[in-house]
Amino acid sequence: MASRTTHSPLSVPTATVLGTPICTYDMEQTMALLGDLLDSDESHLVVTADATALLHATTDVRYQKMFAGATMVTPDSSGVVWALKRKGARVAGRVSGVDLLARFCALSADRGTKLYFLGAAPGVAEEAAERLRLRFPGCNIVGTRHGYFPPESDEVVAAEVAEMSPDVVFVAMGMPRQETFFIDNADTIGAKIGIGVGGSFDVFSGRIRRAPKLFQRLNLEWLWRLLQDPTKIGKVKYLPKFVWMVLTRDR
Ligand code: UDP
Repeated sequence: MASRTTHSPLSVPTATVLGTPICTYDMEQTMALLGDLLDSDESHLVVTADATALLHATTDVRYQKMFAGATMVTPDSSGVVWALKRKGARVAGRVSGVDLLARFCALSADRGTKLYFLGAAPGVAEEAAERLRLRFPGCNIVGTRHGYFPPESDEVVAAEVAEMSPDVVFVAMGMPRQETFFIDNADTIGAKIGIGVGGSFDVFSGRIRRAPKLFQRLNLEWLWRLLQDPTKIGKVKYLPKFVWMVLTRDR
């Protein structure tokens, strides 16, 4: 059977960071485009890229597969926005997975768009959904499921998701697992859009607090996450290397 997943680049403005093209649209433009994709006949993967992912993509084939399978890559972190601006790209700011998820909940309340939350520890996606239903009355979250299952169960889980016929599936199982799951199972899932959203369900469930506005304004969200969860040092330690690579190789 021919794949429904489209990898064709959209005609959107992009700038390249360490070899990966990133869309420079702001949040409004991104949502307008994703709204159009809901009417398409294909499945589209949206990757919200942070600095670590772009760095890994220079050497790790799993990350390369993830970006190659994406219809659109957005700048998830302030490090990526910095790298884009350094190249002279006109970019308004971050388009993060957390913000996209909230925007889709608002859209879903208006349009009835069917959303599915797949990922995080048992109970977390459901807690996030309950809180979001209160925040966006009428938001149409049609199903939730935890993300702790072995790769051998991918097809079964994909079929479970498909039963709810979602338009948009948010997958929160960490990169690049969440994106690869969507790419490999897009035909079964049948959703128009899949978006990898990392730790977003933990944030919306209230289990992890999002960085206060001050931290966000000072581009220190990574420091806040590190203070909340010291195991994140594994990720943060790549930031200096990302900056170095951008400064020395990304001309
Ligand atoms: N997770 C999951 N299944 C796994 C491993 C992780 O559902 O096998 C979840 C984890 O509980 C967390 C999310 O994936 O909710 C990953 O969050 P993280 O903050 O690591 O993602 P990031 O945004 O840093 O990529």
